[in-house]
Amino acid sequence: MERLGPPLEEPIFDTLTVVGVGLIGSSIIRAAKARKAARRFVLAGRSQATLDRAMELGLGDHATRDLAEAVRGADCVILCVPVGANEAIGRAIAPALKPGAIVSDVGSVKGAVVAALAPSMPPHAHLVPAHPVAGTEQSGPDAGFASLFVRRWCILTPDAKTDLAALAKMRAFWEALGSNVETMSPEHHDLVLAITSHLPHLIAYNTVGTASDLEEHLRSEVLKFSAGGFRDFTRIAASDPTMWRDVFLTNRDAVLEMLRRFNADLQSLQTMIEQGDGPGLFDRFTRTRNIRRGIVDLGQETAAPDFGRRAMADGDGR
Ligand code: NAP
Repeated sequence: MERLGPPLEEPIFDTLTVVGVGLIGSSIIRAAKARKAARRFVLAGRSQATLDRAMELGLGDHATRDLAEAVRGADCVILCVPVGANEAIGRAIAPALKPGAIVSDVGSVKGAVVAALAPSMPPHAHLVPAHPVAGTEQSGPDAGFASLFVRRWCILTPDAKTDLAALAKMRAFWEALGSNVETMSPEHHDLVLAITSHLPHLIAYNTVGTASDLEEHLRSEVLKFSAGGFRDFTRIAASDPTMWRDVFLTNRDAVLEMLRRFNADLQSLQTMIEQGDGPGLFDRFTRTRNIRRGIVDLGQETAAPDFGRRAMADGDGR
């Protein structure tokens, strides 16, 4: 398992508030605690049961369902909730933010999150949107772990008005959690993630959905022989339905654009199969094999014979 570095000499934040202590929120807290990236951790969320469990796990110094209370006095507030929940939470916390507070998030879509949060931010607070490109198909505070972000990308999406000191702090924070940090515009982020994450999830949901609609005798064979590739689709298709519903509703244009290209390419593969075009299929598969080699070379996957599933169970790209 990848390792976090030693504790920092000086914390980056005095008080860090995390709203939504699920897989990502609890992993941020675990990593930030291990690195002493903040002095005090405040947990906020929707259900008391989740907050109680997070406190039992020793994740927070204080937990509350009162969002205004949770962010009062916080130097940094990170929203770790489904993308569709950000707007209401932004409105609820805005009046309680202290001067200089940084508000960030972890949403898998950035354009819609900026549009949801920016209007309610008071002028004395700094919005720095973020997306850690790391995750698993698990949910909830028990699913998180401190090394989730190590050697994974975290994409920050500032704009021309973003406070540079706040941006530098969020970069330092994510680097402390082990991430490689990149900045880009929200629009560019949404286009890149539409093809690298959102479309693959849609395809997995569809593949597993098609298999589950098969007649009974075929369906049991699918489960029995699932190691032939289907198993990896089922892992991705087990991802949280709320999170992924929100991703597709909020990154609609980019996903539809990628889906159009995907359908055209699939159609051309179908034509090659119909026409018995062996060289065409061979060329296409050689090209895609090289892409995988490039990803392994970049250290974002392993070349292990099990496709790295055991090694990577702790944190794939989302
Ligand atoms: P999760 O494990 O399901 O956790 C989500 C948390 O948000 C839960 O604690 C939930 O509280 C809370 N929540 C939901 N709606 C809320 C609301 N209206 N008000 C307050 N709290 C609310 O989900 P996750 O995987 O951590 O995902 C969180 C965010 O991270 C999403 O925006 C997602 O796009 C992003 N992200 C996910 C991944 C991934 O692979 N999972 C990777 C990168 C980024 P309750 O327990 O009380 O319901």
